[in-house]
Amino acid sequence: MPGDFHVHTQYCQHGADDKMEAYVLQAIEKGLTHISFTEHAPLPESFTDPAPHRDSTMDRNKVEAYVMEGKELQRQYKNDLQINIGFEVDYIRGYEQETQTFLDTYGPEMNDGILSVHMLQAPDKSFFCIDHSEDEFGRAADAFGGLLPLYKAYYDNLQSSIEADLGHYKPGRIGHITLIQKFQLAYQKPASFSEEQKHILELIKRKGYELDVNTAGLYKPLCKEIYPPVELIAHAAKMGIPLVPGSDSHAAGGIGKGFEYLSDYSLQIPQRLAL
Ligand code: ZN
Ligand code: FE
Repeated sequence: MPGDFHVHTQYCQHGADDKMEAYVLQAIEKGLTHISFTEHAPLPESFTDPAPHRDSTMDRNKVEAYVMEGKELQRQYKNDLQINIGFEVDYIRGYEQETQTFLDTYGPEMNDGILSVHMLQAPDKSFFCIDHSEDEFGRAADAFGGLLPLYKAYYDNLQSSIEADLGHYKPGRIGHITLIQKFQLAYQKPASFSEEQKHILELIKRKGYELDVNTAGLYKPLCKEIYPPVELIAHAAKMGIPLVPGSDSHAAGGIGKGFEYLSDYSLQIPQRLAL
């Protein structure tokens, strides 16, 4: 296993308090050679976090501290582990300019990064964080007029995220492309969406991006499936899309969790972002 390339830290407001160093030590103990810290980048300043506790990302005032702490760990553990520092950046339709401004500012500090869709805007203009909780997901489905339009909006926004021009430092890896299925055991998938999913993979391929192969879904009680599910991982592999493993850990103990289920695939380390 090359490493864990989707990892959160104590800077995440909805995760554990485990320090970045605890994640590093856990990665070394598990025999990993690489880790990418991909903390949730602060949301655009003009965007209001729709999550009930407004805790979807890291605090905007702590970005410098996060980067500094990561760099210090890079130095300290350089003989034991390759540590990348980056962000999981939200793609929010309509906020591309602000997102690019953040990337232009911090991109030069980033060695790796993920672009993800968590926020969707309903027809009444209100936003929902689709992976927050079962209840929020239900409210989102109501606001969109059902599960079918909600799923459609998700894949549509995912497509926009891949096509969006976010400048030179746009992350080269697309996060958990089936996150909309996080509560699928409570809210049954309204259709297969396999055409949309394959189209997403085609766009990823065309753009030369990587796929976040994310084991977190396996441990979500209402999902129990890797993001994306194995058929899609196999399809992406056939297409030659780089498969980059990530646990999406929000606690140090989660490093490399579920990677034993990925042993059939040839996994890759990320192509480093241009520095
Ligand atoms: Zn998170
Ligand atoms: Fe995410």
